[in-house]
Amino acid sequence: MKAVQLRTPRRTPELVELPVPRPGPGQVLLSVTGVGLCHSDFLLLDTPAGMLRRMGVSLPLTLGHEVVGTVAALGAGTSGVSEGETVALYGPWGCGRCRRCADGAENLCVRREVLGISPPGLGSPGGLAEYMLVDSPRHLVPLGGLDPLQAVPLTDAGLSAYHAVKRSLPKLGPGGAAVVIGVGGLGHLAVQLLRALTPVQVIAVDVSEEKLTLASGLGAHATLVSDDSTAQRVRELTDATGADVILDFVGTQSTVEMAGACVATGGDVTVAGVGRGALPVGFDTPAYGVSVAGTYWGTRTDFTEVIELARAGVLTARLETYALQEVPRAYDRLRQGRISGRAVVLP
Ligand code: NAD
Ligand code: ZN
Ligand code: ZN
Repeated sequence: MKAVQLRTPRRTPELVELPVPRPGPGQVLLSVTGVGLCHSDFLLLDTPAGMLRRMGVSLPLTLGHEVVGTVAALGAGTSGVSEGETVALYGPWGCGRCRRCADGAENLCVRREVLGISPPGLGSPGGLAEYMLVDSPRHLVPLGGLDPLQAVPLTDAGLSAYHAVKRSLPKLGPGGAAVVIGVGGLGHLAVQLLRALTPVQVIAVDVSEEKLTLASGLGAHATLVSDDSTAQRVRELTDATGADVILDFVGTQSTVEMAGACVATGGDVTVAGVGRGALPVGFDTPAYGVSVAGTYWGTRTDFTEVIELARAGVLTARLETYALQEVPRAYDRLRQGRISGRAVVLP
């Protein structure tokens, strides 16, 4: 089968020919129909060898953690899915048994590190290939008639954006405001989720005019170019109070500082972007009663809810499609911020 692998640290991923894997007991072989490229892939693509080792990542690694496919074969004793069924992959694999996993929050599995469990495409072999092994049918969610191509960006971009929005729903009431920083794969879905699930003013922030035009088209009430004056302009749009919720899908030092500077008293700052910025938190920092959290992917419950929202027509991913051979070009475009919505590879 064809697969795209990171084989040498900090080199362009390569298209290679590999044997089709055989599902072992309890496993599922997926024939991949679509796989999304995520900005988090650069955490692997840009990382030197020593750091990859410390992250527990060994090369070569088949990339791709946003996966939809059809069930091609079942390992011995596997049940719960049938051959030919189209399914979406729940990527943040946990142990399935700890107290968080029991609650559906496999993204926060407390035994993941102890057991050395890595998500597909971010440590375990991923889905940027014609076939992919899935450790358990538990990780596969039926689409219920949703277009399989549309489902691809929901598996991470949609799930992570929904998880971030859902955390703050109690603070997103009438008269309120939310800021979305970074209108890329995650952010363009967050704008739609905020419009569909809340009555607040949605303010979108990006460095690119094209992304701001996209945000307006998806329902953002106001758009702001990201610069030193953004926080002040958010205050002007919110009667000087600041916004109740800031969703930062960039997460660099400058954007987390922007988030801290424009969040209202008692609001939420949620950092989903992996830009490694840090926001100091104290008694009155960034303001009284502000809750600051990082979020990682989403729960199994969130995932089924995201799929239901898409089935209900309130969430539509913008996407560009690419062949496996075009993955390096698609990553270049993603790095340059030129993908509108999500890049989805069709193996
Ligand atoms: P993307 O490249 O599709 O989108 C990023 C957007 O941010 C682009 O539109 C870009 O123009 C914009 N941007 C860049 N710098 C900016 C700035 N200073 N101010 C405002 N906007 C800016 O990326 P994506 O795949 O949507 O991922 C977004 C971030 O979320 C990445 O850091 C990624 O690693 C991370 N991520 C986190 C999770 C999670 O579970 N927390 C899941 C997926 C991705
Ligand atoms: Zn991702
Ligand atoms: Zn667990």
